[in-house]
Amino acid sequence: MIRRTLMRRAYNSGNWEKARIHASKIIKIPKEQKLAKSIIIRSFCNEDNYLEAIRHNTLWAGELEELPELQHILMRQAYKNRDWKNAKSLAFEMIANNNQPNIAQNIVIQSNWNEGNYTELIRLNSLWENKYQELSDKAKQTLRMEPQAVSDGHSLEMKQRHHAQPVPNIDEKEWNPEDQSENFWQEGSRLWMIHPHGWTHWDMPEEFSLGSTHPDLLRLTSEILLYPWHKSTRKPLEGTRKVGSIPALAFSAGTDSTAAALIMPKNTILGYHRRNFESILDHRNADRLLKHMEIERGQFVVDVSSNHELIRTYHFKQTGFSSDFACATHLILLADHFNIGALAFGMPLDNTWLEKGRKFREFTQTQYFKYWTERFLAAGIELFFPIAGLSEAGAMKICQNEEIIPFLNSCLRGDGKNGCGKCWKCFLKNGPLGRSFDIKAKEVQIYLQRRPLPTTTHALWALQQLNLESEVPELSDYLETDLSWWTSFYPPAKQILPQRWGEEIWQNILLHLSPMKEPYLVESIDFSFE
Ligand SMILES: [Zn+2]
Repeated sequence: MIRRTLMRRAYNSGNWEKARIHASKIIKIPKEQKLAKSIIIRSFCNEDNYLEAIRHNTLWAGELEELPELQHILMRQAYKNRDWKNAKSLAFEMIANNNQPNIAQNIVIQSNWNEGNYTELIRLNSLWENKYQELSDKAKQTLRMEPQAVSDGHSLEMKQRHHAQPVPNIDEKEWNPEDQSENFWQEGSRLWMIHPHGWTHWDMPEEFSLGSTHPDLLRLTSEILLYPWHKSTRKPLEGTRKVGSIPALAFSAGTDSTAAALIMPKNTILGYHRRNFESILDHRNADRLLKHMEIERGQFVVDVSSNHELIRTYHFKQTGFSSDFACATHLILLADHFNIGALAFGMPLDNTWLEKGRKFREFTQTQYFKYWTERFLAAGIELFFPIAGLSEAGAMKICQNEEIIPFLNSCLRGDGKNGCGKCWKCFLKNGPLGRSFDIKAKEVQIYLQRRPLPTTTHALWALQQLNLESEVPELSDYLETDLSWWTSFYPPAKQILPQRWGEEIWQNILLHLSPMKEPYLVESIDFSFE
């Protein structure tokens, strides 16, 4: 009884931590349980520690409807994550419960605006006493200007981005679904490709000539960028391009592709894809590393700007690569220009023999491997996975041994030199390198609570390395798995290296890492959380 009073007193005087301590002491008493739990969750809310609040709420499932604050938080979070659909449905629930209806209505209106649901916005505004007249007028205006806006459904922000993209001088060409090689043309050093929703371009090296580029390279490029939505891009290739002699690597300046660059032959071309429209992406880290690779290590670097990451957005996806190999379309297009015969991707064990980093599979038997190996070869390019037998941790170790870490930072939100210390990448990549990061940071906590755990094996390994097992007691069963092999390599991966360079690469890997011992523990990995 005294505890209860002390808990209430602490809570009422804003001493959240103390309130929680008292609450945890009476939480086992059936009669007090409900109040104690509520105090714990509310005190976290009051501290703005929504993550803990939500975590406890999930732990004690079912308390949600009694906690209006949480509903509010979840709605805001959905809105912040641009998950308009969920934001709206949570908001409508709040309106129905008369829980902060004004805020909830505002979220509904704003979400509709972001979705480009202008007619719905106008309808709701009149239903809600014209409180959102200004936005409703803007919606009416947009509808007048662009009647098709109703059907195309893009947010105003995205529409503006689409409109801001450069337009070719020749703009009367139409997309040809029959032969993709017909969809390319060159204006100066800019290479254009038309697609069903507009144009995309690459700014190529000056001497590049489309005329001396094999049509199969164009077809392969367009397939990679469009096949998720346009199956007609998957047509047989001529298969007449002779395999070139120079290896190239899709170089993103992250740990994995850097490790790949360090073990590949010295004459490997490093191809950097530069997103050339405004976004939160910061190229400064990459620029420092590119300069280092070029000047200090004498590597040949090709830096090509393009906006092809916008193609997905026409299909209501976030900006990014249309498919896995899109990060190398510039190298495919330059294959004849540089006599490229093999294209490497810094894809680690986490994505090859481990499916989604959590379940072993026979990579060479996957449809993915078989289809694309054959497809690239038909265009005269050997598909090349130099670090397929190494984990992300193995890749980090190579970078460390080669003393390249000072030039490397996988965090995309840092200040151009240091990581932000608050993102999932900082935890996974910077943490094990001894760089500072915050395990309590919001994003890290959200990812740690997700099931299946993202980047599973590497994340579990990182928790073990950093002695942070106690931070995620729910994972204790998984954390008992022996992952000491995670920094060694999987010997069967040698079989998929191109013969021409296989031995050299293998020796380079051996300089840094040791082979896994049989029986290979990786083969029994299954962290499916089922
Ligand atoms: Zn970060």
